[in-house]
Amino acid sequence: MSDEFGNCGIAGNATVDNPADLAMEYKIVEIFHSIQGEGAKCGIPHVFVRFGKCNLQCEWCDTDFETFTTMTAIDILAEVLKFDCKRIIFTGGEPMLNDLWPLHRLLKARGYELSCESNGTIEIPEGLLDWITISPKDQEYPNVSIRQRTGDELKCVYVGQELSMYNELKEGFEHLFLQPCYIHSEDVAWNGKNFALTETVVKNNPQWRLSLQTHKWMGID
Ligand code: SF4
Repeated sequence: MSDEFGNCGIAGNATVDNPADLAMEYKIVEIFHSIQGEGAKCGIPHVFVRFGKCNLQCEWCDTDFETFTTMTAIDILAEVLKFDCKRIIFTGGEPMLNDLWPLHRLLKARGYELSCESNGTIEIPEGLLDWITISPKDQEYPNVSIRQRTGDELKCVYVGQELSMYNELKEGFEHLFLQPCYIHSEDVAWNGKNFALTETVVKNNPQWRLSLQTHKWMGID
């Protein structure tokens, strides 16, 4: 993929890539093309790059972020380029545990739109991403502070917490979403109760919108 000078011609354009960027290693769980199933970009196709490792351990987490392979940025680029899709979501795990600048440089040079889904515990450098979704978990971890306090959407998993806990944080975001906590191993009645509860809370607090994980209904990733 690289020439004798380490430049990557993988996209077939005149981009001259930094060899150090191409060699950067990341822990990757999976890379796949799907439809964003939740939040403001629901229904829009994206390539999902799921990173391994997280600094939290939420009880409802449905991602096995401890099973990953190490890939270089050039391997990631090669995977992403297989899909006819110019939108990428960095997800996890917690993507911001990584230095994403090498991937940013490689992907922005090829015209990609970059989004991330983060738990907000790590500040995101200015200009790194085009769209920031913060999904805080301080309803679960009251002592973990949210360091990324601005972004495009704030998406909170609703487990009955007081919405007043977001009074300050929500000022930094354009879109506010409440998403019912869905646990695959629980039965329909248990999950249905959470759906009904979240629906009622959104009806009574209309500045928040309901976000449903529609990809799960469709049985896709
Ligand atoms: S922050 Fe997200 S990825 Fe990390 S444990 Fe919680 S739900 Fe899972």
